[in-house]
Amino acid sequence: MSTARYAVIGHPVAHSLSPRIHQAYARQTGVSLDYDRIDCPPGGLADQVAAFASSGGRGLNVTLPHKRAAYALCTELGPTAQRCGVVNTMVRVEGGWRGHNTDGSGLVRDLTERRRQDLRGRKVLLIGAGGAAHGVAPALLDAGVSALFIVNRTDTRTDALADLLADPARVHPRYFADVDDLGPFDLVINATSMGHEGADGEPLQLPGSMLTPRTDVVDLSYGRAAVGFLAWARAAGADRLFDGLGMLVEQAADSFRIWHGVRPDTDEVYGALRAEFGSPLASG
Ligand code: NAP
Repeated sequence: MSTARYAVIGHPVAHSLSPRIHQAYARQTGVSLDYDRIDCPPGGLADQVAAFASSGGRGLNVTLPHKRAAYALCTELGPTAQRCGVVNTMVRVEGGWRGHNTDGSGLVRDLTERRRQDLRGRKVLLIGAGGAAHGVAPALLDAGVSALFIVNRTDTRTDALADLLADPARVHPRYFADVDDLGPFDLVINATSMGHEGADGEPLQLPGSMLTPRTDVVDLSYGRAAVGFLAWARAAGADRLFDGLGMLVEQAADSFRIWHGVRPDTDEVYGALRAEFGSPLASG
């Protein structure tokens, strides 16, 4: 019997850690799989997914910039993906693909279980309105945050995300220019791709007034991509700084469970990656 095929699809995808993480989970749980990377420039998702399906592909992780396109491509959606409007995990089903989203559960599990944070009643600033922001916002609301302020470079996307969340008592779309008036936050999440090599546009200019030494600051990226934002936050007075490595292993474990029916233990993989990447700024 041939080994089941899985892959992460995105652009760029060459440095994705997903193959390594899923292979480690497979060894731990005794699952047999092939897990590759598929580089797919914007606009090419449907063709690449069709080719992967024809070659026996059973599951895909979807990364930037394709999460919205994956949502549109899926023939069925799990409840979380339906709510997020974006898909990061696809499962081959009869006649198409079923879409899920594990980014939000991954972030919340990292914050609450690994970092021992209580998200209930917290005032949160979410920076970004792309695939990752769509994925994490519903899970933050479910975790009990009291207020979720959203800012994004492109205002129309801020409003679209707020509309999708349909919780006007807690969700507040704002312009960047207004952040200075909002006072300090308990939790600030950078869900933009601005730290990535080749990111378009200028880095964000944010006011330090949104941070205190007690603010938890999370950049969803990791490695060099997280350094600029976390260094800015430290210089602005925050010292509880986290990158996205913990979220990465947790969202992968949730995808793995969807595909293989077992949730692997994440500590060993997280420990190995943390040792390799180090914590130049993160306090984890
Ligand atoms: P995406 O869908 O392409 O969205 C990119 C977001 O970044 C948009 O909000 C975009 O704003 C904003 N942006 C890009 N360049 C910017 C700049 N120079 N200044 C200000 N804003 C800028 O990407 P994504 O899937 O949401 O991913 C976002 C980040 O989350 C990436 O760093 C990704 O690696 C990370 N992530 C991590 C995990 C994890 O498991 N740790 C999971 C998912 C994503 P506009 O709308 O104005 O273009």
